[in-house]
Amino acid sequence: MNRVHDKPPSVTAGKNYSAPNPKSITFEGYTRRMSTAFLRILVFLSLGLISSQCSKPEVQSPTGPRTLLAIFAHPDDEATVSPVLAKYAAEGVTVYLAIATDGRYGITEHAKIPAGDSLAAVRAEEAKCAAEKLGIQPPVLFGLHDQLKMGEGFGPLHEQLNTMRDKVKELFNTLQPDVVITWDASGWTGHHDHRLVHAIVTDVFQSQSWGKPVQLYYSAIPTGNLPADSPMQLATTDSSYLPVRIPVSDTDYEKARESWHCHKSQYTPETIEGMHQLIKGSLKGTAYFMPGAHASTKKNSLF
Ligand SMILES: [Zn+2]
Repeated sequence: MNRVHDKPPSVTAGKNYSAPNPKSITFEGYTRRMSTAFLRILVFLSLGLISSQCSKPEVQSPTGPRTLLAIFAHPDDEATVSPVLAKYAAEGVTVYLAIATDGRYGITEHAKIPAGDSLAAVRAEEAKCAAEKLGIQPPVLFGLHDQLKMGEGFGPLHEQLNTMRDKVKELFNTLQPDVVITWDASGWTGHHDHRLVHAIVTDVFQSQSWGKPVQLYYSAIPTGNLPADSPMQLATTDSSYLPVRIPVSDTDYEKARESWHCHKSQYTPETIEGMHQLIKGSLKGTAYFMPGAHASTKKNSLF
C-alpha cells in the first residue's frame, strides 16, 4: 500500500478514481502527505469496519474440507481482506494467498529501500511473515514485475499478462479452490495492476468448468461509506450488489493487525497502531463481497 513509485508507467491505465498520477496516489503510490489519513480510511473500509448493513447470512456455508484462494497484485494488498483470511484459516479452511507482482516500486520514506531487486526481496519476506501471522499457507509469489512492465510497451506487458494467466490457471488446477477472492473491477484505487489481476482471475475462472462448484468473489467497498473528508476518492459499489457480507471478529482483526506489522517496508508501527485504534472503536466489522461469474438459468432475451 504505502508506496511511491519511482518509475511510473507510460501507459495510461483506464479510469482512475483519483488524480491519475501514479506518483501521487494508490496503494502503490500515494504520498506521505495523504498517507496517514488515507491508510486509516482504506484499512477501515477494507476490514468492513464501517457502518454495517450486515445481517446474518441467509445461506450458511457448507462444512468439510475447503480451500480458499486469494489473488492480489502486490505484497500487502492482502490487507484488504486479511481478517477474512484469518477467519477462515482459523475455521480449518486451507487458505492460500497468491501475489502477482514483486512490489519492487513500493518505496517509502521511512524504509529508504531503493526500488528494485532489494525491495522485491524484502517484500517477499514480508509477505511470508504476513501469511504466517494470518495462519494461512505460505504465499504463492508469481514474481511478475511491479507495474507489469507497462512502461516498456505492449510487448513486455502482454508477456507479463500471459504469464499471469498461466500461473492463475495452474493454481486453479493444482489447488482446486472452492472459493477464489480477488479485487473488484476498480481495484479500489484504480491501480492498473489491481484491475488487471481482477480481469485475469475473472478471465481464467470463467474460461472453463473446474470439475466442481467454485465461487468467485470480488472484495468491494459499499457506496456511501467513504468518509466525506477522504483525501482521495476510492471506487465503491452500491450495497445492493454486495450480498455477501462476512462478519469480522476481534480475533480476526488482531491477527490482521499482526500481519500488517510484517510489512515494515510499507508501514511504520505508529501508522499501524493508529489504524488499529481507529478500528477498535467500531467493531461491528463486516467484509463485503460481490459474487463473480457464475452459471445461471438460460434465456433468450437480454431483458
Ligand atoms: Zn496494490
